[in-house]
Amino acid sequence: MNVSKWNVALLNVSKHGIVGNCPACGSVDTDYEYFKFKSGRGTLDVWCISCKTRISTDCMNIPDNPKTIYDTTDYNWDDVDDILHCGTREEIDAIKCPECDGELEYTYIPEIRYMEISCKGSCGTNIRCHKVYTVPNFYKLKNVGVTSNDLDYETIAN
Ligand SMILES: [Zn+2]
Ligand SMILES: [Zn+2]
Repeated sequence: MNVSKWNVALLNVSKHGIVGNCPACGSVDTDYEYFKFKSGRGTLDVWCISCKTRISTDCMNIPDNPKTIYDTTDYNWDDVDDILHCGTREEIDAIKCPECDGELEYTYIPEIRYMEISCKGSCGTNIRCHKVYTVPNFYKLKNVGVTSNDLDYETIAN
């Protein structure tokens, strides 16, 4: 899989609103969809209907577009995930448990792409996430001083 070609397809969508030819098989039968969290950030998915290749990128500023799906739910674990992955230092510092408003602890182990979120409040929720391919911002901010504005183009192929 040629990831850089797919990144071009993702950029095509952001800039011109079209995917263009599938980088894998050349088909014009391609489509895309945005998902926008309450933060204004979200995901762009691009896929080919012919060969079923699909690629997505997160931490994007999402435009209002006919292909944008909006997060209309209450603040929940998906929002926590959005903030931990893509949020600014201020957003990450202000993060709260969506169930009990308690303090959250989070860990990321890059070698095994593993993330864990635990609530230190009354609900005690513990979430273990495997296959976390995109390095979360909280980890970058803590460990390498990368700014949260750096777009992460790591991609996942299904
Ligand atoms: Zn294709
Ligand atoms: Zn909690």
